[in-house]
Amino acid sequence: MSEFDNLYICPNCDYVDSISDDNNLVCGKCKFEGCFVARHINEGVRKFWIQKEETLADWRFENRFLNMIKFHGIEDKNLNKMFIKSVKELFKLMMDNKINLQDLFPKYARDFEKTYGKRNRGWDNKKKKKHDAKRKKKVKTKSMWKQKRTSLRGILYEGAFNKLCDKHHLFENIKIPIRYYDKQLEDYEYYEPDFWFNYNGVQIPVEFKTFEKGKMLKNKFIKGLNQSRKYGHLSSLYGKNPNKYSAVILCSPEERLFSCAVVDDKIKQI
Ligand SMILES: [Zn+2]
Repeated sequence: MSEFDNLYICPNCDYVDSISDDNNLVCGKCKFEGCFVARHINEGVRKFWIQKEETLADWRFENRFLNMIKFHGIEDKNLNKMFIKSVKELFKLMMDNKINLQDLFPKYARDFEKTYGKRNRGWDNKKKKKHDAKRKKKVKTKSMWKQKRTSLRGILYEGAFNKLCDKHHLFENIKIPIRYYDKQLEDYEYYEPDFWFNYNGVQIPVEFKTFEKGKMLKNKFIKGLNQSRKYGHLSSLYGKNPNKYSAVILCSPEERLFSCAVVDDKIKQI
């Protein structure tokens, strides 16, 4: 099967079907009206990560990240504790589901470029372009296979953890991009955290990031945190996150390490 088969994927119910001229990316199963053009995830790469997950050692919590942000953490220690406990439970669920990995790891990814054309990417546009240019230079030296493997790792694990969220009462899978009004662009834009952490009436956006072996390093962490802070601010617009909290889950599948924390604007002083 080729990567592009003219398929769509419904974010609401995961249904995949072919795009016909008249269906306008409307889901044939649940009638959701904002489906994405689907891209088939390379089967070899998918197998590679499933096999890793099946055969490698148990996941372990990594304290280094928590030590790093120790003096810039949130006031509400109980909330942070609860989040860490819940994330540990998520990784435990991953380990308990070793026989279900075929169902857990997604077969399709969303193709944003094909869905929206080369659309403006909002606040991130300039940075992203620069980043893409830099990235292109860098990946030229890598083999195509490794490049594919690396770029799909995040999509596969993110998809798997999204599904695991449904099995945990404090996490909520975010299926549909959230619309908000961007004052600078004077237009409506969308953002989509990976999932919500719901605790004590507070709804916190969570960013999930995977890292290459040996790359769970301070500067990479901080990059992930910046993105998460934007979501903390955006989600506070809806009144369920007055303290503008945001959370991150960081992991390295090959090293079997994960870490996490809830942060607020204090983290910017790090
Ligand atoms: Zn659907």
